[in-house]
Amino acid sequence: MNDSTPPPAAPSPGADAPPERRDFIREIVAADIAAGRIRAPVTRFPPEPNGYLHIGHAKSICLNFGVAREFGGRCHLRFDDTNPVKEEQEYLDAIQADVRWLGFDWGEHLYHASDYFEQLYAWALNLIEGGLAYVDDQTADEIRETRGTLTAPGTHSPHRDRSIEENLDLFARMRAGEFSDGARVLRAKIDMTSPNINLRDPVLYRIVHADHPRTGDAWCIYPTYDFAHGQSDAIEGVTHSICTLEFEGHRPLYDWLVEHLSVPSAPHQYEFARLNLTYTVLSKRVLLRLVTEGHVRGWDDPRMPTISGLRRRGFPAEGIRDFAAMIGVARTDSVIEVGQLEFAVRAVLNRTAPRRFGVLDPLRVVIDNYPEGQVEEVEVVNNPEDPAAGSRRVPFSRELWIERDDFAEDPPPKFFRLAPGREVRLRAAYFVTCTDVVKDGAGRVVELRCTYDPATRGGDAPDGRRPKATLHWVSAAHAVPAEVRLYDHLFSRPDPGADGDLYADLNPASETVVDGLVEPSLADALPGETVQFERLGYFCADPDTRPGAPVFNRTLTLRDTWAKVQSKSGQPKDG
Ligand code: ATP
Ligand code: MG
Repeated sequence: MNDSTPPPAAPSPGADAPPERRDFIREIVAADIAAGRIRAPVTRFPPEPNGYLHIGHAKSICLNFGVAREFGGRCHLRFDDTNPVKEEQEYLDAIQADVRWLGFDWGEHLYHASDYFEQLYAWALNLIEGGLAYVDDQTADEIRETRGTLTAPGTHSPHRDRSIEENLDLFARMRAGEFSDGARVLRAKIDMTSPNINLRDPVLYRIVHADHPRTGDAWCIYPTYDFAHGQSDAIEGVTHSICTLEFEGHRPLYDWLVEHLSVPSAPHQYEFARLNLTYTVLSKRVLLRLVTEGHVRGWDDPRMPTISGLRRRGFPAEGIRDFAAMIGVARTDSVIEVGQLEFAVRAVLNRTAPRRFGVLDPLRVVIDNYPEGQVEEVEVVNNPEDPAAGSRRVPFSRELWIERDDFAEDPPPKFFRLAPGREVRLRAAYFVTCTDVVKDGAGRVVELRCTYDPATRGGDAPDGRRPKATLHWVSAAHAVPAEVRLYDHLFSRPDPGADGDLYADLNPASETVVDGLVEPSLADALPGETVQFERLGYFCADPDTRPGAPVFNRTLTLRDTWAKVQSKSGQPKDG
């Protein structure tokens, strides 16, 4: 995640102080209020419980709950649980936890499409009685083949003109379980020549002999998304049913059903552009496959774009909300740079994450003139961005670990860190000078011998001299071993699957596990605790953490890495 492109605009200050935002959805809501059509908006977030929520859903959640909050209305959480085959209680639970974690609250307005199955069935009977729906015995394939194309009209089913009595009888027998899966469906009788394929006698009910997480075996026919969604909105008094653009073509059907059924209110559907992110796939179907095929550790793997994955990775909810505010809401599909999300997250973490010392690729340093056996505690500021975060004491001693790449035996130009004969500052401690390099039989550097200047305690020299580099360090006797998981994009190209095989684009180096050494204050880090390892990046303690054996996920690197400096040969990061 090193190649982020910072966006031009700064992120918002967070959910407590929402900026004055305007987008076409908010314009519509404001106009409806101004014209007296509504007093306050009622929105809903309608996930299908067939997987975990991802960052695309977060955009929809921020929009639906955000609009409700800003205009004094309310937002429902409604599970679109009309397909029992793919739905599980685990998903219902995870979705609620994720919405709450993002900072939103549906109050008592938790609903399920399955709450309305009886009412939906009654409305289906009304359509049949009005000659507006019929039972079709054609197979799914036959229905697809006779639906026509964008340029050719569809053709009528041979069962389209069944009598109302026969339709009522067959539909009742469908419900009673007399027929097998797929043997019959209920279809609306609209117009097989409509230019909108969604109006060519769409399917309203399917036979599915499967237990439902909530209704058990009470039903073996289930309404389609189209038949459930608008009517559920109407039952709940939803005023603005906000969904993504792929549903635009369904809107005439949504309106047709609301118009032809005696529903208690008349909701309207509005469509916005779904979120697409570079290096990322936002499709529950694909994410499920990554989980079941073991490409990742689970739905909450820190590489996953799921809300639970981002949380485990260490992305704060505030950063995700800021990102949603930053990208806004539009009616045109686009692909957002994942760097924009990282930018929003870094802005929050820079403010909130305490600084700590951790070494990921340790190289031993021995300070020859430092008294053997002596330990002193140096005072280190926790967060220069936040004086209220205070300071902590970190043990310093004769033997230390520093980062291997903070030393070069033969330093290239602009490399200002440690090298033979060179003096650097050990952060908050002393200046040290490298006097000797110890190698193993293979010629690999295994230890540096140094001297320190006792007059530089705290990191400043009385004579005002200033080394060009300040290094982080950990006292060898006090260091706590930590498993550190370094993450990169899950996919190796910005447009995964563009060449055809999505799974071939999985990044084999998306996770690297290293044995790090961290300062003793992190021994008992709590899962979810986020810190900045100075000069390395933001890290979050993983749920796998155990007392005395911390496990950290790298949330993000800091922006300016040495690699970048090298490649651009711009300003050095040292100093
Ligand atoms: P996926 O395509 O990932 O399987 P979905 O649309 O099937 O997602 P739902 O559970 O039906 O998932 O989505 C719930 C709500 O979230 C819907 O209103 C949907 O429009 C919205 N949503 C889903 N994906 C995105 C996205 N990438 N950007 C914005 N909103 C999204
Ligand atoms: Mg869906």
